[in-house]
Amino acid sequence: MTRIGIMGGTFDPIHYGHLVTAEAVRTNYNLDYVIFVPTGKPPHKKEYEVTDSSHRYLMTVLATVTNPFFEVSRIEIDREGVSYTIDTIKQFKQIFGNKASLFFISGADAILEIITWKQVDALLDLCYFVAATRPGYELSELNKKIEYIKKVYKRNIYSLEVPAMAISSTDIRKRVKEGRSIKYLLPESVEHYIIKNGLYK
Ligand code: ATP
Ligand code: MG
Repeated sequence: MTRIGIMGGTFDPIHYGHLVTAEAVRTNYNLDYVIFVPTGKPPHKKEYEVTDSSHRYLMTVLATVTNPFFEVSRIEIDREGVSYTIDTIKQFKQIFGNKASLFFISGADAILEIITWKQVDALLDLCYFVAATRPGYELSELNKKIEYIKKVYKRNIYSLEVPAMAISSTDIRKRVKEGRSIKYLLPESVEHYIIKNGLYK
């Protein structure tokens, strides 16, 4: 059985919070590799609020090249319409068949919303979920939600404490807009890409 992590996100831009989380889950859950999946059109974010997918894809590639266990997939950006995780997981299931188990990786904020996701029942059947701690979201709140999912959906969600990185893409975008430094919040290659392409101005 191949164990594959799926790290979904808008990655607008990708930062060390995403990278440290994916690496922590990879090593703690013995994953063979992690596939980063930049979202096409996120259902919960308005289109004009999200940077062109070609930029987000390239920044994700730049950020992950130094890790031999990280890959990037175009599966969502090449698919028409709004990106739903259920469709992505189903597509990966088709590609990998029964030879792989999938671990969907997400931060505490995302997992707290999981029960609002499309076809959450089917989703919980198709892959494992690993919820990572994220500064600003209490571990106790996360555990409460996991308990609730266990009770209502009869499925487990793994949780993992990862090195705390109080970094968000929203904050990085704001810093760029205000002309403040984004150094050490994200890989240098991504920082240069942002400057070169005049993103977030
Ligand atoms: P935005 O501020 O635009 O929402 P973000 O920093 O939350 O951006 P996303 O692309 O929305 O980044 O997040 C993708 C996934 O990574 C989500 O599951 C999110 O919970 C997780 N994540 C993002 N930042 C961190 C962090 N600092 N620590 C742990 N997990 C994180
Ligand atoms: Mg977010």
